Amino acid sequence: MSERTFSPEQVEFRDYCRRWIAENRPAAPSFRLPLSPIEVMTEDQRRYLCDWQKRCYQAGLIGSDYPKEYGGGGHRGFQTIATQELGRAGVPYMINIIGLNMAAPTILNHGTDEQKRRFLPPLLSGDEIWCQGFSEPNAGSDLAGVQASAVRDGDQWIVNGHKVWTSLAHFASWMIMLCRTSSTHKYEGLTYFIVPIANTKGVTVRPLIKITGETGFNEVLFEDVVVPDKLRVDEVGKGWTVAMTTLLYERGAAEGAGSGGGTSLDERIDALVALAKGMRRNGGSAWDDGVIRDKVMQLAIRVEAMRQSARRAKVEPLTEHPMRLPLQSKVQLSELLQDLAAVALEIEGPHASLYLGDVHAPENGQWPLAYLNSYGFTIAAGSNEIQRNILGERVLGLAKSK
Ligand SMILES: Cc1cc2nc3c(=O)[nH]c(=O)nc-3n(C[C@H](O)[C@H](O)[C@H](O)COP(=O)(O)OP(=O)(O)OC[C@H]3O[C@@H](n4cnc5c(N)ncnc54)[C@H](O)[C@@H]3O)c2cc1C
Repeated sequence: MSERTFSPEQVEFRDYCRRWIAENRPAAPSFRLPLSPIEVMTEDQRRYLCDWQKRCYQAGLIGSDYPKEYGGGGHRGFQTIATQELGRAGVPYMINIIGLNMAAPTILNHGTDEQKRRFLPPLLSGDEIWCQGFSEPNAGSDLAGVQASAVRDGDQWIVNGHKVWTSLAHFASWMIMLCRTSSTHKYEGLTYFIVPIANTKGVTVRPLIKITGETGFNEVLFEDVVVPDKLRVDEVGKGWTVAMTTLLYERGAAEGAGSGGGTSLDERIDALVALAKGMRRNGGSAWDDGVIRDKVMQLAIRVEAMRQSARRAKVEPLTEHPMRLPLQSKVQLSELLQDLAAVALEIEGPHASLYLGDVHAPENGQWPLAYLNSYGFTIAAGSNEIQRNILGERVLGLAKSK
């Protein structure tokens, strides 16, 4: 949505968002916040971020376009504005990222009225954190290979299995979970559930430590977990269709119930320039090095190109396929973040080997951390290889891979 095409109500809402954010920006915490919500580890971090999400929700900046009866603001065309303004302001990100971007739109599209009334309000406010149980040790890119089983027992289901790479499960009240309900059909044998996680008999959440030394994701084990049938989402055997809705939102092809905040790409470019100006090199600074300046400029051009692509994606006559630009943005953004962090390490030179907690590490070791973390983003939400396959097959019409 271009600001030039805003209605008077949207202009008024944008101005309100700007005012509210300026007046309510939270004070910086006394502890370090991780780079993204999927690395949130401690109770202090959780509390700080949940409090921020709740305030944004109460102010109407989250769930703005969701129906009022399900806890939303009941508007149309407001969420993009709120998200943009939160992004511009460099305020903290929303912790309930899986709830807002994946569970909420899935429940809104496929859930019962009872599910929408029960789950959406505390999801939007951040009172209940959500996680996503799709991946398993033998089902990642081949998601339809899911083996965690749900077996019907009257008006309930008995769930057994093993999910992995489950971001935020350690704080989650609920999981959106893909289960096998029939072994006869690969795709039609899948059913989608909402499964209780916190304090649930038979559920074990085990943190996984990443190369960065941080956790944030987990493996989750299910042993005879009882799930009432009223927590099934859509029909038995329709799990694959429901999961495709979740993935559409997860991969950025459609807008969820709200996000925004975190470090913007412009801020990251500014931070690179500041880093280069501060690092000593050949009697001057790294910024005096034409090669470094050129690399930073190449990144700045990619940032601008992404911004213009995002604008173009919203104008139908300018896109020959509605999914092309939104789908490619996940590949572009994750690879840009990786290249950006790699240039930062080049600027730091040998200092890049110093990590978090080392008093001699430039900028507290943030850039080596960002570099290591960036590999997760090229894998999460479906690896970039898979995303390229999807673009090739569905957008360019190339022959299908096996
Ligand atoms: C930071 C992070 C957070 C995550 N959070 C969650 C979460 O909350 N919930 C959840 O369910 N999952 C989560 N995941 C898991 C993620 O969805 C999977 O890691 C991803 O789908 C890849 O699956 P895999 O790890 O099993 O790799 P595999 O599927 O085993 O793939 C291994 C490699 O082979 C390549 N490959 C596989 N098949 C093909 C093909 N057909 N063509 C070309 N290349 C191919 C892949 O691109 C990859 O490089 C997360 C992952 C990360 C990194």
